[in-house]
Amino acid sequence: MEHHKHSGGCMCSGVRYEVTGPLREVIACHCRECQQASSNHVTATAAKPGKLKVTDDRGLAWYSHGGALNRGFCKLCGSTLFFDHGKEHPTGIAVGSFDTAPALHVAVHIYTDEAGAWYDLPQGDADARDTETWQKTSWHDLKWLDV
Ligand SMILES: [Zn+2]
Ligand SMILES: [Zn+2]
Repeated sequence: MEHHKHSGGCMCSGVRYEVTGPLREVIACHCRECQQASSNHVTATAAKPGKLKVTDDRGLAWYSHGGALNRGFCKLCGSTLFFDHGKEHPTGIAVGSFDTAPALHVAVHIYTDEAGAWYDLPQGDADARDTETWQKTSWHDLKWLDV
């Protein structure tokens, strides 16, 4: 199977990356930390382990607020970019950072019990708005798509 290559980066191009291989369906995370990072929920796809290649890391910085998650961002322009859970796990990538939006859609909303009171969860995703969904849906059970 032929895998497509995707490229992306931050607002100022201080961080650039390429991804080979399939991309995971999108998770929309409504947790408090994502709100603080973006003022909204964060939407992330993912690359298989080892398939995200950072081609320019001049601006790349990482922050961990405790736990296993490291948030990758650009220290020059502030763009949210990566969500690293460790080498053996898929690396989350902010969907909005791709040069061309991949043909992906949100598959699951997580931490909806922390969703901001200033926005509505999208209509048409009734089951995904269940606050239990994130517990029933493993990150790793989501589909990987060649897009
Ligand atoms: Zn930047
Ligand atoms: Zn979150």
